[in-house]
Amino acid sequence: MAEPMLDVLIVGGGPVGLFLGCLLAKRGLSFRVLERRGSPGQHSRAIGIHPPALEAFRQVGLTEPLLAEGLRITRGLVTGENGPLGELGFATASAEFPFILSLPQRDTEAVLRRRLAELAPGSFCAGVELLELREEAKGLHVTTSQNGRPLELRARYVIGADGWRSRVREALGLPYPGHLYPDKYLMGDFPDTTPLGHTALVSLTGGGVVESFPLPRQGRRWVVHTGDQLSGAASALELTEVIARRTGLHVPAAECRMLSAFEVRRHRVPEMVRGRAVLIGDAAHVVSPIGGQGMNLGWLDAATLAPLLEQALASGGADWQHFERTRLRSARIAGHQAELNMAAGRPAGARAQRWRERLIEKVLLSPTAEPLLAQAFTMRWL
Ligand SMILES: Cc1cc2nc3c(=O)[nH]c(=O)nc-3n(C[C@H](O)[C@H](O)[C@H](O)COP(=O)(O)OP(=O)(O)OC[C@H]3O[C@@H](n4cnc5c(N)ncnc54)[C@H](O)[C@@H]3O)c2cc1C
Repeated sequence: MAEPMLDVLIVGGGPVGLFLGCLLAKRGLSFRVLERRGSPGQHSRAIGIHPPALEAFRQVGLTEPLLAEGLRITRGLVTGENGPLGELGFATASAEFPFILSLPQRDTEAVLRRRLAELAPGSFCAGVELLELREEAKGLHVTTSQNGRPLELRARYVIGADGWRSRVREALGLPYPGHLYPDKYLMGDFPDTTPLGHTALVSLTGGGVVESFPLPRQGRRWVVHTGDQLSGAASALELTEVIARRTGLHVPAAECRMLSAFEVRRHRVPEMVRGRAVLIGDAAHVVSPIGGQGMNLGWLDAATLAPLLEQALASGGADWQHFERTRLRSARIAGHQAELNMAAGRPAGARAQRWRERLIEKVLLSPTAEPLLAQAFTMRWL
């Protein structure tokens, strides 16, 4: 029997596709979320959830479960070669959420999957991979593979939330201009043995930046610019030695819970909307994770898209140009900000290091610049 025409087919059950599913369920639309993985990924990339996303999650009852599992980062401490340069508090970022919530991406995705199952049981289809996409008179015809067996589906709109290697984007014939940065980073999760509590640390040293963020369950994530001191294949012990050398803080290498090297890239599609297909999240834009905003950008794409889909399905039209313009603008701003963050954390010679320490000290002490910086780091302008 032929499958009925769905209102929306979401390709990709990562954080962005899952949230869009919750939003569409609340609006009473018929949809499926296709996820090619048969079981959830265990690798944790993102940890930072920003106030605008927490506000958007209210619509679907996700804010409270996430707040219950996450840890609230209330401020960041910035240090240089010889000690503290200043602090950045997030109190002015939002009256309701004056913090960045820290939760490993796999746990965030588990909360989103649970909520989607409550709102629309059976809508999440694991082990289903999109292969082809074809326009029809009233919608799109989609060929998928379900555990190796072909499955044909039809939907009035298809949303590509299938990550930076997006098959949907490829099927639409859209390019993905961008580049890989020369910077390389190594990150690891360990028990938190520092006296920092709920404070994030950004240590700007001549060897390269060390960032560290508290995690739930007494954990702490460390991210270091590898500079010329570490290779991508470095061990947990080598990572902790570099952290000790650059910050004076001792991290228990033997208790490493996760170790991962990563490179950073930036990409942006020329169009997010083509016909009845829309790209969101990493399928539409990738920004460097130094600054931690990529996943949040995708959530804000989803929150903007859901009412437009409802409107287009009801009346046949929506202001897609405005959607595309505003969301690509946000991605551009986040991309520039991440680039500034990376530049501030690159290895530097003694003179450049003294100069940047003086500049950062000045900015953090300025009563006008500090709240603006807090707003930028918590994505108030996106
Ligand atoms: C080290 C690191 C740290 C980061 N930290 C942060 C942070 O703190 N804050 C933040 O906001 N962002 C952060 N990011 C970015 C964040 O991880 C991504 O922006 C986010 O995962 C994008 O979500 P997405 O749902 O768009 O794509 P993905 O997470 O890539 O999900 C896409 C999903 O689609 C599925 N899929 C792919 N192809 C198909 C297909 N053909 N058919 C069906 N399913 C398919 C995939 O299996 C996957 O599950 C970080 C990234 C890295 C690398």
